[in-house]
Amino acid sequence: MRLVVQKFGGSSVANAEGVMAAARKAIRAKRMGNQVIVVVSARGDTTDNLIELAREITEKPPAREMDMLLSTGEQISIALMAMAIQSLGEKAISFTGAQVGIVTDSTHTKARIKSISTSRMRKALEDGQIVIVAGFQGMDEDFNITTLGRGGSDTTAVALAAVMKHDSQGPGLEVACDIFTDVDGVYTTDPRIVPEARKMEAISYDEMLELASVGAGVMHSRSIEFAKKFDVPLQVRSSFSDSEGTWIVPEKEWMTLVPVCGAAMVREEARISIEGVPDKPGISHQVFNAVSSRNIVVDMIAQSVGTNGKANIGFTVHANELSVAVEVLQPLADELGAKLFYDAQVSKVSVVGAGMRSHTGVAEKMFAALVAENINLRMITTGDIKISVLVNKEDADKALGAVHRAFNLEKTRAQEPASPPATTNGKKYGRDLLAITQQLASMEEILVSNIHASTDQGRITLFGLPDRPGNCLKIFQAIAGHGIVVDMIVQNLSGEKADLSFSVPIPQIQKALELAREVAKAIGADIHASADSDNATLYVLGVGMRSHTGVARKIFGTLAQEGINILMINTSETCISVVVSQKQGELALASLRAAFGLDA
Ligand code: ASP
Ligand code: MG
Repeated sequence: MRLVVQKFGGSSVANAEGVMAAARKAIRAKRMGNQVIVVVSARGDTTDNLIELAREITEKPPAREMDMLLSTGEQISIALMAMAIQSLGEKAISFTGAQVGIVTDSTHTKARIKSISTSRMRKALEDGQIVIVAGFQGMDEDFNITTLGRGGSDTTAVALAAVMKHDSQGPGLEVACDIFTDVDGVYTTDPRIVPEARKMEAISYDEMLELASVGAGVMHSRSIEFAKKFDVPLQVRSSFSDSEGTWIVPEKEWMTLVPVCGAAMVREEARISIEGVPDKPGISHQVFNAVSSRNIVVDMIAQSVGTNGKANIGFTVHANELSVAVEVLQPLADELGAKLFYDAQVSKVSVVGAGMRSHTGVAEKMFAALVAENINLRMITTGDIKISVLVNKEDADKALGAVHRAFNLEKTRAQEPASPPATTNGKKYGRDLLAITQQLASMEEILVSNIHASTDQGRITLFGLPDRPGNCLKIFQAIAGHGIVVDMIVQNLSGEKADLSFSVPIPQIQKALELAREVAKAIGADIHASADSDNATLYVLGVGMRSHTGVARKIFGTLAQEGINILMINTSETCISVVVSQKQGELALASLRAAFGLDA
């Protein structure tokens, strides 16, 4: 038996015509012999209008009542959808999130799913019904209605597919999940900004996770995380046509043949820097603890090495979380004797691709494209499969177009398959996936799959690089020109000067330092360069590493407790890497593995 979960977004069910079209899609899937679960969002702008209604009453609506209000949008949709399907002669029944047993924590308006019971859905499906479930909502253990955060219906859909697939009571279904929306797939970048953008046929979970986290607003990140964790193949497709969309699936070899698959931009980013914090263990922990205590997702992090016992910590948050972040950070900065700066006129441009792991010169190419447009790089961070740069807001569109062109993203990625890729099963996380999913008690528990350390990378740091377009590029061009592979890059701006750190293989560190010094001399400013090979890099691998504020917090907390100083940090959705001194590497590895329960 095959189960299809179909999710229809708000625009797909905005009017009666849309509801009927969706109903016909569900019926067709049913008549092809599938069991069908339909998840719907609130119609059109309903959710926005409900928020507006609350604002007419009060500026600060209580979160519990907000959820009571917002959940009604989806309730309208499920009833109409059930009526539509029945009017077309097929059996259907609608359920709210609570009725179907979606239990969440109590974080109103941003709740996380804790468990889903499958019995009611299973019974209805076995009875031949099309099951219609309200997206975006659940209830907590005290029967309060909760919502999952904007766009949360995607998460509902994938979570339902996941529990049905791995339900130990169930028949072991083959499951797929179609996300019907107003776009016909995932594009190489936003076609409204870059007209040459192209629809992709398939993309890996990791790539989609990174793209979503750096601004590709196609799907709710958490839904992709679930899909990856529970091996649910997804297809993003148009509700207005029958054409194939974009498959989101496990990584395939052909995906790695080119370095970059997509580019994205977050226009409303804000940069925060805390300058002159004591350069000692535990400070980053205090800073990020404060921020995550308010559930704010820290985005790019650039912690530069200290000089004279002081260090700077720079990071970005979404612009609309800036004021809350400042509220918690100002007192902390005062307490640490440090200065707090922020700037809300910045945007983040990123490139993503699984092929980045095996291709060199990717960063250099990206910087060159930006420099050619005279765009200044305010901050740089790299991840396993992404590179992000912060630019001035007015340069954002131009920057996105430039990187899209530089990586020829308008051209088809080699060998994209037209047919749906087979689903995989098994122990890809080194733990038994089934065993995990059988205890659905905490579905959203962060799944850190592995932590390992390497001591083969050394670090070069340049202090006092004048903040001008092209300076960074000159350095990476020189380094790449000698075939030296750069792994991590962190650039942080303080005042008019930037600190730039990057890692290279230890055997090449002296050469890299020499090259960096030559470039520094040519730039002519008072730049100080140093190399350091007493490093250990720890890689914490998993899913949802960045959007769960808890992961970074746990890493920093664990290292702080052991008195280990963090020299460099990079974060992405699938990997957080941390550089510490080599003599503390083993201790860091052991304590992190213990903290995430990997040696149990
Ligand atoms: N209706 C909710 C929203 O607009 C959830 C969703 O659409 O997925 O955010
Ligand atoms: Mg919506």
